Amino acid sequence: MLLSSRVKGISDSITMKLNEKALNLNDDGKVIYNLSGGQLPIKPPPEFIEKVHHQLNFLKSYQYSPVAGFPALRKKIMKYVSELRSLPPEVFEEETDCIVSNGSKHSIYNSLGALIDPSDEVILLAPYWVSYPEMIKFWGGVPVVVNSNVFDGFVPAIEDIRKVISARTRVIILNSPNNPAGIHYSEAWMKEFASFLAEFPDLVVISDEVYSEITYFDPKPSYFYQYDRSLLKRTIIIQAISKSLASTGLRLGYAIAPIPIVNAMSKIQGQTTSGPNSLIQRALIDFDFNLIEPFLAPVKHHVRQNAANLREKFREANLGHCWYQSTSAFYFMIDFSRTPMFARFESDHKDYSYQIADELLQNEGITVVPGLDFGLPNSARIALVIEEVPFLEALSKIVKYLNTI
Ligand code: PLP
Repeated sequence: MLLSSRVKGISDSITMKLNEKALNLNDDGKVIYNLSGGQLPIKPPPEFIEKVHHQLNFLKSYQYSPVAGFPALRKKIMKYVSELRSLPPEVFEEETDCIVSNGSKHSIYNSLGALIDPSDEVILLAPYWVSYPEMIKFWGGVPVVVNSNVFDGFVPAIEDIRKVISARTRVIILNSPNNPAGIHYSEAWMKEFASFLAEFPDLVVISDEVYSEITYFDPKPSYFYQYDRSLLKRTIIIQAISKSLASTGLRLGYAIAPIPIVNAMSKIQGQTTSGPNSLIQRALIDFDFNLIEPFLAPVKHHVRQNAANLREKFREANLGHCWYQSTSAFYFMIDFSRTPMFARFESDHKDYSYQIADELLQNEGITVVPGLDFGLPNSARIALVIEEVPFLEALSKIVKYLNTI
């Protein structure tokens, strides 16, 4: 069977393979600590579920929506985001529009399709979300990575971004709060980034803000366009209900962008997937977005507690160099390269994160996501969302593993 070279150029998800292995071990009776999840292990708020129930009664919930989504929802989203960002509502009124898609992954995919031609370069700030490079490659683009590490708190230097700008650079993807690092970039960083962008007027920013409501350490995330609103003319704001309403399976994300970009994304959407799920869109039109904050309050409290437990365990175990202040989203990156355990591996600058993730699963029953997929070799992402008691048990096993030579 001949498959397209486009598909052959895209990596399989290692996470899926590890998950399969974890399920098999679980079937064999082994206790598994799942720290690889990218979602909240809870149901959405009851008020939202109730709206979904209510909308089941209407014919329109079962029929096509407009390609870009129901106008009432798009307007409501723009109002909500302008409020979240302390922007006057009129900033999105004239030159900007919103398009609703099947999850924010789909919104990002369509944005890239609207913006890049083959061989165009897209800048990624490492660590980055695993799907960005694959989506860029799918459209024929070239991912260009700017690195950061645990010692700079996973915040890349603006000067390092400047160094990779070329005549082919079209887009930069910013993800704050960041998956996998669980940090958001500071106000000072965002201001510097805004000034940097002013020097490159053709550069478009995809600002992936899907975790912006899940932040548990002040100051809260801010964004470059809040300091220079003219940058909204070349910014695509990406959001979703996946994380903020614990609804990854409902597949509803959106982009707020300049009208020509939204129109281009609509063209792609219209000829491929059509508008997203009408039932969920209609439930969202009815749902009070002000309930998102109280819904997330206990979640944030829980994540903050697990993050504090993690830091404490690492400190106690003399793994201080692995420690950094996570602030938002619900992830933490462990850097293996300076732990005693790493002495077993060759110091040949290769990546051993898959092997280490496999060992953690086979020996300790812990699933983590290998860091290589996030552009950070010899590290792993863990999620801070499971219950505190099993999380503490898993942490004890992790620190023991990291300190075993
Ligand atoms: N962006 C980031 C940074 C993510 O971590 C995820 C999912 O984990 C997404 C986008 C996509 O989310 P969804 O397509 O469920 O909205």
